[in-house]
Amino acid sequence: MVAVSSWGRLGSWEHEVHALRDRRQVPHTIRTFRPGIAYGNGRSYGDVCLNPDGHLWKTSLLDRFIDFDETTGRLVCEAGILLRDIQRLMVPRGWILPVTPGTQLVTLGGAIANDVHGKNHHVFGSFGDHVQALKLVRTDGEAIECGPAKRPDWFAATVGGLGLTGLITEVEVQLHRFQGPWLDTETVPYGNLGEFFNLADDSESGWEHTVSWIDCISGGGGGGRGLFMRGNFAQIDARPEPQSRPISMPMLPPVSLVNHLTLRPFNTAYFHLKKFRSGGAVTHYEPFLYPLDNLLEWNRMYGPHGFYQYQSVVPRAVGHDAIKAMLREIANSGSGSFLAVLKTFGNRQSVGMLSFPRPGVTLALDFPNKGEQTLRLFQRLDDIVREAGGRIYPAKDARMPRDLFQSGYPRLDEFLPYRDNGITSAMSRRLMGN
Ligand SMILES: Cc1cc2nc3c(=O)[nH]c(=O)nc-3n(C[C@H](O)[C@H](O)[C@H](O)COP(=O)(O)OP(=O)(O)OC[C@H]3O[C@@H](n4cnc5c(N)ncnc54)[C@H](O)[C@@H]3O)c2cc1C
Repeated sequence: MVAVSSWGRLGSWEHEVHALRDRRQVPHTIRTFRPGIAYGNGRSYGDVCLNPDGHLWKTSLLDRFIDFDETTGRLVCEAGILLRDIQRLMVPRGWILPVTPGTQLVTLGGAIANDVHGKNHHVFGSFGDHVQALKLVRTDGEAIECGPAKRPDWFAATVGGLGLTGLITEVEVQLHRFQGPWLDTETVPYGNLGEFFNLADDSESGWEHTVSWIDCISGGGGGGRGLFMRGNFAQIDARPEPQSRPISMPMLPPVSLVNHLTLRPFNTAYFHLKKFRSGGAVTHYEPFLYPLDNLLEWNRMYGPHGFYQYQSVVPRAVGHDAIKAMLREIANSGSGSFLAVLKTFGNRQSVGMLSFPRPGVTLALDFPNKGEQTLRLFQRLDDIVREAGGRIYPAKDARMPRDLFQSGYPRLDEFLPYRDNGITSAMSRRLMGN
């Protein structure tokens, strides 16, 4: 048994870990050691990738490139490969993954199982929109090949399917032809939510990437100041690529470094510094799209009790009021962190039955785990999300109540027949009962 945790470090639990090394052996391994759940790179914050006291199928050694067509950009890989390894091989060839989340350190299988989104949802949708085909192995030995044009029901269940329909071994993904690793970027400060929505609307047609940092404790008095960042890949003459080496959080601090003493001064200083330096710049795609990837194990800064992320999406029509209400609750609680993101999703439906992205506005915020106090705040945020007709993101979740999952994901009943009964996770037991 090995102690395993996820990104939020809310605890670590004993698992019987089985490293999958060869995709031909996957059927045998997952049939023998079941019920279990796939574990990619553990970048999910909560319990979607955990199965305490049970089997865990670790996919990170299923990391082979299988085929690439340089003229069409069709890439076939094993599902345990990291998106970073795809990008670093393909970007110099003029191809890029159309959709990546805020870290490249996730596996292909993990990106599909949570149907991840990036800063360009309004242009490219979510990850599943670019998957042409995948191979799924079930714990009874059945192999299923599916894609948007082949067995699309299995595809729609597996994209965003939280790893519960089978183990994905191989993926064919369509890369995007692009103009090189540099982006023209702009940072625009905003003073309140109204200004944020205006900037988001104005930027949708002309900017491929849009995201904003929001000062989570400025929302109390109707504020909600932040920094809106947008960028477009551009044909820019070669320049030296950033050479910064990854550094690690050197130790686990005895208490969270994010607390009521540090949060306000940090947010104020960050806002004013960035405001002072706002305007246009040329930025390499890695620091722009994955700003934290060079600080390894930054999740340790929350100390021994770990942290939660609360990410919700609410429909656009009620977005302003719902986000304002959430920010007010957060400001009143004095909790939160400097890692707070506000972003609009484009007006498109996701392919997966349980995909998180939907038209609307999404707020994502980290919270140091202060036990009951934090959970009580989340209940108040849940009420706002429920009332607004929104949903919580399972990839970030470790505690959402079952009724909110059911109301947020109306295709749940359609999804359930596709579940593999040899697969279970802490999240599936919590939210689906088995
Ligand atoms: C710093 C940071 C930034 C992030 N930013 C974003 C963001 O902008 N947008 C976003 O959408 N997400 C974001 N995330 C969340 C992250 O993208 C997802 O949690 C992603 O699914 C993690 O992938 P993983 O490979 O680590 O998978 P894990 O976390 O290990 O597993 C995730 C799910 O995938 C399943 N799974 C993994 N491999 C397979 C397989 N081969 N077959 C079947 N199921 C499988 C697991 O069972 C589990 O259900 C962020 C996470 C971090 C830490």
